[in-house]
Amino acid sequence: MLLQVLGTAAGGGLPQWNCACPGCAGASAHPHRRRRHASLALRADEDRWYLVNATPDIGDRIEDSPALRPGPGARDTPVAGVILTDAELDHTLGIARLREASGFDVLATRPVHGALTGLMRLHDILAPYTRVEWRELGGEPEPLTKGGAVEIDAVPVSPKRPCYAATVEAANGAGGADGTDDDPAWVVALRLRETATGRSLLYAPALARWTDTFQDAVEAADCVILDGTFWDDDEPLRTGISDRTATGMGHLPIAGPGGTARRLSGLRARCLYTHLNDTNPLCDPDAPQHTLLGEWGLEVAADRMVIEL
Ligand SMILES: [Zn+2]
Repeated sequence: MLLQVLGTAAGGGLPQWNCACPGCAGASAHPHRRRRHASLALRADEDRWYLVNATPDIGDRIEDSPALRPGPGARDTPVAGVILTDAELDHTLGIARLREASGFDVLATRPVHGALTGLMRLHDILAPYTRVEWRELGGEPEPLTKGGAVEIDAVPVSPKRPCYAATVEAANGAGGADGTDDDPAWVVALRLRETATGRSLLYAPALARWTDTFQDAVEAADCVILDGTFWDDDEPLRTGISDRTATGMGHLPIAGPGGTARRLSGLRARCLYTHLNDTNPLCDPDAPQHTLLGEWGLEVAADRMVIEL
């Protein structure tokens, strides 16, 4: 299975356009520290690629990636569709950016689909421009394409809704997601498995809690790319960006007693962190936390990194 990392930053990217924090200032001064919104491209068949999450900078990411560039016909594109892990703006705004395509798939869970078509009205807005095939992403493995080279299913990880769908009334009033909710499929991890080799990836850029189901999924995976938003649980409080802890914000931290590193360390899978917030010390390549991570056998994903499983 062939993967191309398109970006590795949390919402806003690094630097974020309106932020002068030390992390963003460092990335402005040192271009090699820049990170784009977290996303991934996956080759589903020989010349068909799916993007995992549609970030606001999706056009630039496609242009940056030789495998995703158009051709050989004038309007041929290898980009077949988008797979969503949640309905957050940073992961969905790029869908509208794909309107020039003749058509593309969007795979999303039921509540995410409801938010995008009901509240954001993406179906209505895009219909005059392009053909969008909305496909439901569920808990049973199904072929990503007709060729069946890759199977996909979703592992629910959190009922956390995006702020624009924060209330049941908002979602129902707009004909959006059904509102019964503590639907844990608002945020999911993706499990992608190559049928020929059995090799698999687990991609979870937002992880609010570590369930038994998630533990089973990480143990079965050959590669895990995980939420690395915050280094430790107090980071959002210490840096003044929030009055909640990392866990309170829906992101298990990397280090510390409740951190994910101790759970990942020792797994047989190759494990990489993505979705780094501008407050995360790992944004500085010289930070001592990189040494610790290396000692635990873990990595930080980099923009443009190619991973072959
Ligand atoms: Zn910043």
